[in-house]
Amino acid sequence: MSDAKPIQERTLAEQGAATSEGIAALFAEVRARFDREAAQLTAGDLAAWTALRNSWLGRSSGVINAIGDNWLKPAPPEQKRVVGKLLNELKAHVESTLEELRARAEAAGAAGAAASSGADLSLPGLRRALGTRHPICQTLEELERIFLSIGFSVVEGPEIETPYYNFEALNIPEHHPARDTMDTFYLSLPKGSPELLLRTHTSPMQIHTMERQQPPVRIIVPGRCYRRDNPDSTHSFAFHQIEGLAVDTDITFCEFKGTVEYFVREFLGPKTRTRLRPSYFPFTEPSAEVDASCFACDGKGCRICKHAGWIKLFGSGMVDPAVYGFVNYDAKRISGFAFGMGVERMAMMRYGISDIQLLYQNDVRFLRQFV
Ligand SMILES: [Zn+2]
Repeated sequence: MSDAKPIQERTLAEQGAATSEGIAALFAEVRARFDREAAQLTAGDLAAWTALRNSWLGRSSGVINAIGDNWLKPAPPEQKRVVGKLLNELKAHVESTLEELRARAEAAGAAGAAASSGADLSLPGLRRALGTRHPICQTLEELERIFLSIGFSVVEGPEIETPYYNFEALNIPEHHPARDTMDTFYLSLPKGSPELLLRTHTSPMQIHTMERQQPPVRIIVPGRCYRRDNPDSTHSFAFHQIEGLAVDTDITFCEFKGTVEYFVREFLGPKTRTRLRPSYFPFTEPSAEVDASCFACDGKGCRICKHAGWIKLFGSGMVDPAVYGFVNYDAKRISGFAFGMGVERMAMMRYGISDIQLLYQNDVRFLRQFV
């Protein structure tokens, strides 16, 4: 060819295209050239895609603009409609093809980046399971709710205690046999340091609270406790307890019994009956074990209550006046009651759990049942 200029740089007249067919043939030639160039594009090569777009749709040097300038503008009026229509069709084809190629190039680029980073985008996503409250937590909260609703407040204290607060001030002197049932862990400290231990009950907070404030006192003390027990289906070296204490100038055994009965009905259901059995605790006098009628058989006797019809709930009693001596309360003027319940025991009874160890194993198949 004598003329080196590409066809979009020359007018239609220069190329001798005077008929609609001639014009359409020129457009077809340009379109075929675009399709060839697009087909050569390497997937994922965004730089090559940008170059292709600029060479066809660029404002100053793009082929489409050049056709507008050199074919459409100088065309005689009778050709303008045909040229304009074919130009619009060509432009729409170029734009849609480029858009398709861009989406493909971006996807290929992302896959390439993922492949080089070792990530597999075809793997299903990670789902973060929402946690739920542990049955011990649920039980603790339920117990707290009941006592808060009848005027008790929640007090928490340290898990490390001195023997004085854990034993002596609770009327359990050294060499008292009650200490045998509450053997615990002592901290190994440098020689000459005061002795420290892991509390065997949350009862020390009774003393701390009474030291700090004058009656009336109505508190519950939830928390973790420790004893040197070998793990079995009802024992653990760490467990949870809620201790309760009510001290005022006019608290009678009747109020104690009423509070206990109210609690049992709230926790186990309105039909539950309560029974007090004489018992012994160093810091209460008189002391009582609180039993509830079996929730499973309603007192008729079954496997859960070992055919007794009753289930032991917790220990309690009227505060031994000797305890008031340790906190400078006037034992002649005031009286009160105390109780201490194992949270695990209450949870096991409520949910029908037969082995305390299940509560500590963090097996989601077990925990899921209490959602
Ligand atoms: Zn029963």
